[in-house]
Parts: sequence; structure tokens; C-alpha cells
Amino acid sequence: MRCYDCLQEARSDTTGIGVCSRCGLATCENHARVRQVRVDHQNGLGSSYGRIPARRVVCHTCDMAETAH
Ligand SMILES: [Zn+2]
Ligand SMILES: [Zn+2]
Repeated sequence: MRCYDCLQEARSDTTGIGVCSRCGLATCENHARVRQVRVDHQNGLGSSYGRIPARRVVCHTCDMAETAH
């Protein structure tokens, strides 16, 4: 699995560590952004957040797109 951002930069020596949850492309340790997200638990009265955060990987490009104003 090759990191897409590294391929764009003509670097091929990196190994992908994950897949971006937004665009679905492989991303490496340098280009990945790992975020903690709260998980919504549905119960009879509505919803509440779980105590343990889940994890989400996005690539550098999608991270910039999400955080740009
Ligand atoms: Zn990379
Ligand atoms: Zn992405």
C-alpha cells in the first residue's frame, strides 16, 4: 500500500499505515492525521456519548480541507 500524497510528491519509499476515512486513499505516517472522535450511543431516551473516544484517520489533504476556513 503506497501513500497517495507521497506518490504525488514522487516519493515511493514510504509505507501506507492507513486509509483516509474521507477519500479512501492510502496514507502514510507522515501524511495521516489521526483524530479522536466521540461515538454517539443510542438509547431509549435519546443519545449519549461513550466514555471512550474512537479513532479516525484522515489524510493530509482531507484534513486541510476540513479545517480550512
Ligand atoms: Zn505520505
Ligand atoms: Zn483523504
